[in-house]
Amino acid sequence: MDLDLLSTTLTAAGEPTYRAKQAWAWQARGVPDWDAMTDLPGDLRAHLEREVPFSTLTLEHEATARDGTVKALFRTADGRPVEAVLMRYRDGRRSLCLSSQSGCPLTCTFCATGTMAFGRNLTAWEILDQALHFRRIEEVDHCVFMGMGEPMMNLDNVLAACERLPDLGVTHRRTAISTVGWVPGIDRLAKSDMPIRLALSLHAPDDALRSEIMPVNDRHGIMDVLAACDRWYDRRKRMVFIEYVMLGGVNDRYEQAVALGRLLDRKRHKINLIPYNPTDSRYDGSSPEAIAVFRSVLERQGYNVTVRLTRGRDIDAACGQLAARAGA
Ligand code: SAH
Repeated sequence: MDLDLLSTTLTAAGEPTYRAKQAWAWQARGVPDWDAMTDLPGDLRAHLEREVPFSTLTLEHEATARDGTVKALFRTADGRPVEAVLMRYRDGRRSLCLSSQSGCPLTCTFCATGTMAFGRNLTAWEILDQALHFRRIEEVDHCVFMGMGEPMMNLDNVLAACERLPDLGVTHRRTAISTVGWVPGIDRLAKSDMPIRLALSLHAPDDALRSEIMPVNDRHGIMDVLAACDRWYDRRKRMVFIEYVMLGGVNDRYEQAVALGRLLDRKRHKINLIPYNPTDSRYDGSSPEAIAVFRSVLERQGYNVTVRLTRGRDIDAACGQLAARAGA
């Protein structure tokens, strides 16, 4: 819901400002419509129903994977596709994966979103409405900005949305922003009052390979990006998650694991190896054996390494598969 539009509509109707707070409190609790907001007068509810869309997004398509992952495809009012995912884990965690942009201006060669046309930055309300959609299905407690787009290129709106996520049950400490390594954004996040976590999509242990698969590396090279992550760590004293997508024969060799271990710092970095989710790209995922070897090399160097549990692959809801195929 566009809370700015709500405020101006309430003011124009001569309503007190606390009405906006009441409406937001209901939204954050996951009510389905204006009518459920029982402490607003009936005629006001009817007025708001006409004047303020309940969501800035229209749901166009929704699919549930065998593992319970739900992917939603929305359209903004100006027709831009936006995808978001709800991941359900056996331990009860409910994690939102939100988009910060419609499409993405970066062109990482292995990512489906990078191959679609870039639309625009999403507003804070369009980001929050993704979360509210799932909150209406069930309670949620974690959030990652790992959907479409580069959150650090739309950081004002991402942070404005983050400010309100705790009202939905998602604390800042359970929120993570994932970036290709957009240095000015990392520095700004370090200065934010919100203790949001940082994840870096590294994917290669050297600049030559990283530039090949992530052209943004020509602008922000590995050393500059890691220096920004160090500044973030020095302020926050929390580990940076290093994401590393495992591409068969590209970045998964033994020497590359050794080089990655030398490049990083076991005290500051936690490594998350990501099994590659098939897209229309030219890459194959590494074999489970190659991932296991890569992992053990890093563990022997003292790193905390996890292999990401793949969710929602059968409905193209997994990392890098969000390309709004349905009608885009
Ligand atoms: N632009 C941000 C946010 C997107 S997060 C970023 O790049 O960090 C999406 C994560 O999934 C990134 O780590 C991205 O590199 C990774 N990814 C992209 N395509 C993938 C694929 N096909 N399989 C697995 N992970 C992929």
